[in-house]
Amino acid sequence: MARPRSEVKITCQIPTCKYYLKEEKKDILKRGKNKAGHQQYYCNHCHKWFVETANTPLYHKHLSEEEIINICKHLVEKNGLRSIQRITGHHRDTIGRLVVDLAEHAERANNFLIHNVKLTPIECDELWSFVKKNKRKLSPAAQIAMKKVMLGSTQA
Ligand SMILES: [Zn+2]
Repeated sequence: MARPRSEVKITCQIPTCKYYLKEEKKDILKRGKNKAGHQQYYCNHCHKWFVETANTPLYHKHLSEEEIINICKHLVEKNGLRSIQRITGHHRDTIGRLVVDLAEHAERANNFLIHNVKLTPIECDELWSFVKKNKRKLSPAAQIAMKKVMLGSTQA
């Protein structure tokens, strides 16, 4: 039973769902707006509702989820943007923007790192301290967001 879903650009935002942030085989319906005016979606896998604002951070214009996962793995191995550029072929500006994106939505990104990249909390923490060290121009919002998800053990 194939359902048309081409125009739905969003992935499931329910962390307990098997299809959480998964592009492949997702089954999302677009259904009206909530009182705040946010587009509402329904996941046919976990049978839950969510709104569009939840998704934006990791929905990246230039990188597929697979590529984001790949880059995250390099980050946790403490590869700098230049060496990730060399390994993955993506321009370091693209990678840099992803890093900023991750940092600004650190809480959501942390879920992503655990569920999709399959990092342990310690590895997540290592990734964040690496980002912190390498990205000096992070916005205050990003710094606060990262601070929230970091375990505190590696902070200078
Ligand atoms: Zn779902």
